[in-house]
Amino acid sequence: MKQFKLLIGGKLVDGASTMDVINPAKGEAFQTCPRADEAQLNEAVAAAKAAFPAWSARPIDERRELLLALADAIEARADEFAETLTLEQGKPLQQAKFETMGTAGTLRVFAGMSLEPKVVLDDDTSKVIEHRAPLGVVAAITPWNFPLVLLANKLGPALLAGNTMVLKPAPTTPLTTLLVGELCAELFPAGVVNTITDQNDLGGVLTAHPDVAKVAFTGSTATGKKVLSSVASTLKRVTLELGGNDAALVLDDVDVKDVAQKIFNGATFNAGQICVAIKRVYVPDAIYDEFCDELARLAREAVVGEGTDPSTQIGPIQNRMQFEKVKELLEDAKANGKIIAGGEPLSRPGYFIPPTIVRDVTDDSRIVAEEQFAPVLPVLRYSDLDDAIARVNDSIYGLGGTVWGKDVERAQAVAMRINSGTVWVNKHLDMNPMLPFRGSKQSGIGVECGEEGLYEYTQARLVNMAKPGAA
Ligand code: NAD
Repeated sequence: MKQFKLLIGGKLVDGASTMDVINPAKGEAFQTCPRADEAQLNEAVAAAKAAFPAWSARPIDERRELLLALADAIEARADEFAETLTLEQGKPLQQAKFETMGTAGTLRVFAGMSLEPKVVLDDDTSKVIEHRAPLGVVAAITPWNFPLVLLANKLGPALLAGNTMVLKPAPTTPLTTLLVGELCAELFPAGVVNTITDQNDLGGVLTAHPDVAKVAFTGSTATGKKVLSSVASTLKRVTLELGGNDAALVLDDVDVKDVAQKIFNGATFNAGQICVAIKRVYVPDAIYDEFCDELARLAREAVVGEGTDPSTQIGPIQNRMQFEKVKELLEDAKANGKIIAGGEPLSRPGYFIPPTIVRDVTDDSRIVAEEQFAPVLPVLRYSDLDDAIARVNDSIYGLGGTVWGKDVERAQAVAMRINSGTVWVNKHLDMNPMLPFRGSKQSGIGVECGEEGLYEYTQARLVNMAKPGAA
């Protein structure tokens, strides 16, 4: 069995104790890994703090080169990363490869960005230049649905800007982050990147730590609120990428087969465990029955199984807690709607929920109003478009969303009325590290990715100079 290690102060070390990592396709442990305690967390933060002056003083081009080297190193071990990701997370191996390559690609995109000083005013009397300085120690806290690529969204900009880091993965998917730590141990100066793991007990300590300058958090809205209150005492910078309950709004001019397929994919990719997965769909009266039937057909045909089986399209739910929550939501769906495909967990080891389509369901049922984070899609009927838009917007969340229509101008006009950070028109899941990603309402605070996302790892410093001879 491989020995996974924490990375603290440039050394690969054992944890204070160990913990089991469960393969969600079997419901059984397949690996042990180190578990850090609070003393190790403090050591990791201290190491990151000590490494900051030298790292931030290095020319940006050197930091860029090291990020590129990390991308190359991940790619060189892509098979190992993908296999580990499938075993700990559950996703089909092809998708794990895609995430691994996307992780390397994301690091390269950030490595290609720059932080040149900007002249913001230059007139007869003044020259004002905005410089971007790093913040210090960044704590990167990630969830279990995309443990690698969501880490890259934080590693890339934080390191390029000159910050040092402590990485803390979700307790159920620690291994791929520890593998990244292994590579960082070889590539980066001691203390620049540190990895710790926990059982949901160290996140709060990390976010409250006085020597952490910024928290980059991706996870649920409930935990995001805890993070926000814990950073308040030191007024740390914080980025919160939180939950969503994204709607797909289908207009009446669509090709039903084509759009049903795309919506089905958007609702079931990664077993529906995506912050921007399609989690409810609104379909006009005239095509409602046909649309539901098509979604149900696709659900019945989808191959559900272990991620290691090449024929698998949809893997298991990632962990037992989430599996139990989905089972509860399925009971609600049975009570408040009509299930026309799926609906029961598979009777086999592991946490398998087949793709499930729920029709004739009320807006206030839990399966519609809550984030399911599962391959379960409620289909809602509408007769008036304004009313449908109001129902789409009637949510505490505002992360993503999609609008589908042949008349692209009309679809675009509808998209502009959806209160979300991103709205896709006639496509979905087009995530690009060049593009700023953010949530409205309770889906988040701040921006990840794009140039704006890079700026979130910096403090702007305005130098405002008088021109010689100016009064
Ligand atoms: P979670 O909130 O349970 O956990 C996320 C991380 O926070 C884990 O590393 C966890 O250990 C840590 N944590 C737990 N308690 C903490 C505390 N008190 N302080 C600080 N950190 C703490 O989320 P999850 O169940 O792992 O992930 C699923 C959620 O993440 C979904 O709601 C999903 O929509 C959201 N998500 C959002 C995005 C986005 O970009 N907006 C992307 C992916 C997932």
